[in-house]
Amino acid sequence: MTLQLSDVSKSFGATTVLEAVGFEVERGTRLAIVGASGSGKSTLLRIIAGFEEPTTGSVGLEGRRLADSTTNVGAHRRGIGYVAQDGALFPHLTVRGNIAFGLRRSPSREKRVHEVMELTSLDPELLERYPHQLSGGQQQRVALARALAPAPTVILLDEPFSALDTGLRAHTREAMVAALERSGVTTILVTHDQEEALSFGHQLAVISGGRLVQAGPPSEVFDAPLSAEVAEFLGAALFLPARTTGSGQAVCAFGELDVRHDLSNGGQAVRAMLRPSQLHVGGPTGEGDARVTAARQNGSTVELDLSLHDGFALTHRVPLYDGHRFPAGCAVSVRVDGGVVLYAAAATSDRAGTR
Ligand code: ADP
Ligand code: MG
Repeated sequence: MTLQLSDVSKSFGATTVLEAVGFEVERGTRLAIVGASGSGKSTLLRIIAGFEEPTTGSVGLEGRRLADSTTNVGAHRRGIGYVAQDGALFPHLTVRGNIAFGLRRSPSREKRVHEVMELTSLDPELLERYPHQLSGGQQQRVALARALAPAPTVILLDEPFSALDTGLRAHTREAMVAALERSGVTTILVTHDQEEALSFGHQLAVISGGRLVQAGPPSEVFDAPLSAEVAEFLGAALFLPARTTGSGQAVCAFGELDVRHDLSNGGQAVRAMLRPSQLHVGGPTGEGDARVTAARQNGSTVELDLSLHDGFALTHRVPLYDGHRFPAGCAVSVRVDGGVVLYAAAATSDRAGTR
């Protein structure tokens, strides 16, 4: 085990920002922590990096206490690299100067600069450039190269891709994941972007209001969110009133469906959750499962408003090239692939449609 947080809480005055956060990160693995803005992600990273002290709890690295009620190892002595949201390169230093900044003057310094340039797939031609002469993606990779240069035990990444536009974001993320993989460094990334979190790490943790509400391999967390809130936070989700049959099935507006995970704590009246990608609309048919009440073109997709027989309404997207098959008024068949996840019935009535 590399990094260990135990019962970490943090308050600023009367405001509690983190509450009893605990997790371990295995050596050489990547953990992505996802949470809404203001959920405490940056504060958590700053505590691990040593820029903030926890109010209670402890941080340990490879068996060494970094922070607790009596200890607080200085940030520069932790062996932890930190990449801030904007990269925060020194504007008056070249790429070489930025990367070499944290390295002692020695004959091997220049060699190390070249090593991490290669590790992060940066062209050596960029060495003499200043930060303002780099693209946003290059700046972030230089920031990562600078953090990797002193060979830290752990790298912390605070929303490193959020300032990049969509196309560049995916490309930069892939380049950085490849560099992290090659270096074998233990990494924690925090982000508010669900897709990024789901694709980045070996482990995924969800933080909400300063508490870790779920952690595990990304596919497991996505497949079986412990609460309806986590399910909704991680991606578009559809919730339908349902009742259990007692034989591993649930009956809802789509008929009788298999139950993948039952997190409802029993009871007959429950909520069934499924992802829009599980729905397959076919037809049109004479006697369908649903009626198209409206069809709207929206970019590369057509949004269909569907009304099921019991009146349950939802919006479903089909590819643009397929959209013409489903004019308003037609009846369609609806198939659901994969099972549903059950939660306790909501106190208020279920909202139709997808997020
Ligand atoms: P995130 O990175 O998830 O957006 P932060 O950790 O930056 O969240 O902030 C969490 C909460 O803590 C916010 O409400 C923020 O205003 C508060 N906070 C962060 N740092 C301080 C500080 N130094 N003093 C007071 N409140 C702070
Ligand atoms: Mg933040």
